[in-house]
Amino acid sequence: MKNSSPVLKATHALLAALSLVVLSQAHAQTLPDEARFRSIYRELVEINTTESVGDTLIAAKAMAKRALDAGFPADDVQIISTAPRKGNLVVRLRGTGAKKPMLLTAHLDVVEAKREDWDFDPFVLQEKDGYFRARGSIDDKGEAAIFLSNLIRLHEEGARPLRDIILALTTDEELADSPHDGTHILLEQHRDLVDAEFALNEGGGGTLRDGKPISANIQLSEKVYRSFRLEVKDPGGHSALPRRDNAITRLAEALIKVADYQFPARLNAVTSAYLQIVTRLDSPEVKTALAALQAGDNRPEALAPLSQRAGYNAQIRTTCVATLLEAGHAENAMAQTARATINCRLLPDENPADVEKGLKTAVNDEKVAVIPLGTIVDSPASPMSPEVLGAVEDISADMWPGVPVIPTQSGGYTDSRWLRKYGVPSYGVSGIFSEEGKSGVHGLNEQVGVRQLLDAREFLYRLVKRLSGA
Ligand SMILES: [Zn+2]
Repeated sequence: MKNSSPVLKATHALLAALSLVVLSQAHAQTLPDEARFRSIYRELVEINTTESVGDTLIAAKAMAKRALDAGFPADDVQIISTAPRKGNLVVRLRGTGAKKPMLLTAHLDVVEAKREDWDFDPFVLQEKDGYFRARGSIDDKGEAAIFLSNLIRLHEEGARPLRDIILALTTDEELADSPHDGTHILLEQHRDLVDAEFALNEGGGGTLRDGKPISANIQLSEKVYRSFRLEVKDPGGHSALPRRDNAITRLAEALIKVADYQFPARLNAVTSAYLQIVTRLDSPEVKTALAALQAGDNRPEALAPLSQRAGYNAQIRTTCVATLLEAGHAENAMAQTARATINCRLLPDENPADVEKGLKTAVNDEKVAVIPLGTIVDSPASPMSPEVLGAVEDISADMWPGVPVIPTQSGGYTDSRWLRKYGVPSYGVSGIFSEEGKSGVHGLNEQVGVRQLLDAREFLYRLVKRLSGA
């Protein structure tokens, strides 16, 4: 029913649509549980949790109150705060202990949103034209509110799962290198509170094209973020007496060499499965190249059909690209310093030292320094767990028949990098379908379909129930 789009004559279509609306309204009214979800979702979205003026501690406390009001014992509802305006919440639903706990996690903080740039107030939840619209309506308060309301639902149903179900709502996921990253702090300092056999997190979700679901993604792997600075120092001098060998020209030559340098290609279990599925409808050349790579062929000419497509290229190798430039101090002087930032995305099992070595080999100029920047969070891919993937596939097949479940490795990162680094395999899965490029996540006018969010709630309820044996 959810995804069928029968071609009916106009009148019939209209009648069907009307009866659907009436049905779903009646349904909503008879489901106090859905009303509770909506109320939690609204409350959470409307608490501003941006870094500039927001407060994740207020959000953590509000969500803690929801759990306490629902009858969770105080010992199983913990707030961890490491600074003013920074809060994390951990709630535990106790199971029989037959299996190791599972962790549900979502972040409370959101990306900045300026009222004047948006078509509506980003911190007032609107329900309009079939959409929920607000900052955080997807990222990540959709899943946060779903996880909490589903946990309360299980608690009220008297569920006795085979394992504890732990919910962690965390702060500072959206801030690079934050010392208050809640997932990192919980794993490092409160491991007993969140220790689990595996975790479910953001990073997955489904893709809609023209309103129809075309794929359901489960994220098992993330590339590792690492930047470098290329730097050239030079005495400089008057620009009226130029030397070809100057800081800017040397840096420019180094940048061209970096652009032409290719890191070796290789697959892991996730990317191999992913490419096998997504290249199904692709050209014979792409399929041949994939087969070659799967057979261990690493010759650039054999892999060219994959390497020439940015999307495929990013899956099969570590990539580096120049993103920032800075040089010179005056229009009429040769530069004394020229610098570029190179942003690299490493395959999850790549040795960072090898990437630095690769860049130095590519540049091959002792006057160009290659300097690693920032901290690196190396995180392996999660295993292709038949238990987790099987459950996701079965429930997806039931709710979205015919829509393929695709294992993915993303180029960006989530807090799953911390979980994987600390040995908790994390699976990005949400059941939230959205139109490609139209969700406004991290951008303007963030929105999610009402139907899609409510379906995700049902999907995650069934998934958690199945994985916990509740
Ligand atoms: Zn997020």
